[in-house]
Amino acid sequence: MSTTTSEKHGFQAEIQQLLDLVVHSLYTDREIFLRELVSNASDAMEKLRHIESTEKDIHDAGLPLEITVTADKEAGTLTIEDRGIGMTREELIENLGTIAHSGTKAFLQAMKESGSTPAGMIGQFGVGFYSAFMVADEVRVHTRSWRKDGEGLLWTSDGRSGYEIEAADDIPRGTRITLKLKEDQKEYAEDYRVKRLVETYSNFVGFPVMIDGKRVNEIEALWLKNKSDISEEEYKAFYQFQARAFDEPQYRLHFAADAPIAINALLFVPSENPERMGFGKVDAGVALYCKKVLIDAEPKGLLPEWLRFMKGVIDSADLPLNISRESMQDSALVRKIGQVIAKRVLKMFEKEATEDATKWQAFYRKFDRYLKEGVATDFTHREALAKLLRFESSMTAAGELTGFTDYVSRSKDGQDKIYYIVGANRDQIEASPYLEGFRKRGLEVVYFTDAVDEYVVDSLGEFDGKKLVSVSKAGVELDEAELEGESLSAEETAALCEFMKAEFGDRVTQVAAGRRLVDSPVVALVPEDAMSAQMRAMMKAMDENFSESVKVELEINPRHEIIRKLAAAKDSQPEIAKLVASQLLDNALMAAGLLEDARDTVKRMNALMAKALG
Ligand code: ADP
Ligand code: MG
Repeated sequence: MSTTTSEKHGFQAEIQQLLDLVVHSLYTDREIFLRELVSNASDAMEKLRHIESTEKDIHDAGLPLEITVTADKEAGTLTIEDRGIGMTREELIENLGTIAHSGTKAFLQAMKESGSTPAGMIGQFGVGFYSAFMVADEVRVHTRSWRKDGEGLLWTSDGRSGYEIEAADDIPRGTRITLKLKEDQKEYAEDYRVKRLVETYSNFVGFPVMIDGKRVNEIEALWLKNKSDISEEEYKAFYQFQARAFDEPQYRLHFAADAPIAINALLFVPSENPERMGFGKVDAGVALYCKKVLIDAEPKGLLPEWLRFMKGVIDSADLPLNISRESMQDSALVRKIGQVIAKRVLKMFEKEATEDATKWQAFYRKFDRYLKEGVATDFTHREALAKLLRFESSMTAAGELTGFTDYVSRSKDGQDKIYYIVGANRDQIEASPYLEGFRKRGLEVVYFTDAVDEYVVDSLGEFDGKKLVSVSKAGVELDEAELEGESLSAEETAALCEFMKAEFGDRVTQVAAGRRLVDSPVVALVPEDAMSAQMRAMMKAMDENFSESVKVELEINPRHEIIRKLAAAKDSQPEIAKLVASQLLDNALMAAGLLEDARDTVKRMNALMAKALG
């Protein structure tokens, strides 16, 4: 005891500057101090383990490697104790008094770069050891190095007037940090509060964290283990813990990568989609860790938005622990991690979709909107996402789904387009006249029946170099097909078209014979740039003043009985012929979902019925 000497030291200028900020600014995230101190304790024991493998002479060898957190409500203190490497006098000065170490450096660097008022920023940061001064007005560090010739030491500081180092006897190897909590920070002297913090931020720390004699961090950092050492039950339990879920994960992606970035990821796809069940937009569900320490439970901007349904953990050792949540979004490293993960997820989806199509379809029925959102918003991954889309088509049975890849593999030699139709449901689509010509020629037509599909197809534009073309639009060219039966001659057809156009006036852009029809007399084609009936209905529902009249082109079928008879009637009974022509147009508009006002239609029908009955 007689050797006790107390040395006074001043902090290095940068440290002093940092501490002033810590002490005098307002914080939003004070609670992260505990994460920082527990991480340091864990780091120190990790280092000890490392040293153990090379050195024999270790002071207090064999002590259990644990972190003990003690809240003392009466004394108003919180203590964090470890059995790590401890520090010598020189190390204390070096580590806790200068700015040689990583965290503080990064913090000051970011401060310099942003040039903004640090008050808003500081709470976002872990500032390492110094974050202790956010909640304490005095910090005492008892420490004993692992080196045989080390000594027990006590470092003390109020974070304002420098620090003191003095000798302290009878200390086991390691470090004990005691925080004398500020008057308004006494909540951290409460067991339950501290326990919750450890569970939140330090649950996966690789050493036991003990509070009140009980281990608090029960959960293993499963993502760092070998796949072959993990059972299905363990995976499931981890998913349910991490996602706070009760369902079974449907898909799982567990991988480790070293290049270009060190990543350990364990990701899950839940079996239920809360957005579909009306819970509103979910928050990002993949947490970001750095060496088992939580950085952000719901990191924004890490993964593409459309992957927000994923759960799990991404751990990157390359990430600075002290990265701020705000600066995370503009961090090139974080973006890179997001890209790597998105790519892996897409690859996994593609594999799963091929290996078990039935399972994929079941998943797709619940989660399709995310993938569609991705197609519409994420240019980088659009192509990969398009491969995952599923839909019914003119070649699937009702209720069965197919994809673009299969469509292309089935398509005819030389077919350079993918045909689709938008409609409310399969029955409605199949009853419409648009499909006839395509069916007849054996051309597959994709059925899009989801309200967002049209928007998605518009954003996609093409797949595998093949343009996506709507069969209800004008300008689709079909080959000559061998169609049996009598037909009007070219002249008769031209004359009839002229007659009809004269009758319709401005209601149509043109009347012409075409190749799409087989069983129907007429079909209304909308201009290439017009929105579909579904889209118009949606716009109308959103805006009562929405009105945009679409002028169609009327295609007639010169082989159809009504058309042939009409051609004859236009000369013999022009009055009836006009009524029939107008009725044909209305029928076509009705099939296209474009008939806005049926009052004239009804009147005309009555007139026609009267004539038919004589
Ligand atoms: P970082 O952890 O990013 O290096 P910190 O401010 O958290 O920055 O810690 C500064 C340094 O102090 C650490 O690098 C370490 O050398 C030392 N240190 C902090 N806590 C402990 C501890 N419990 N045991 C041993 N050394 C520690
Ligand atoms: Mg640290």
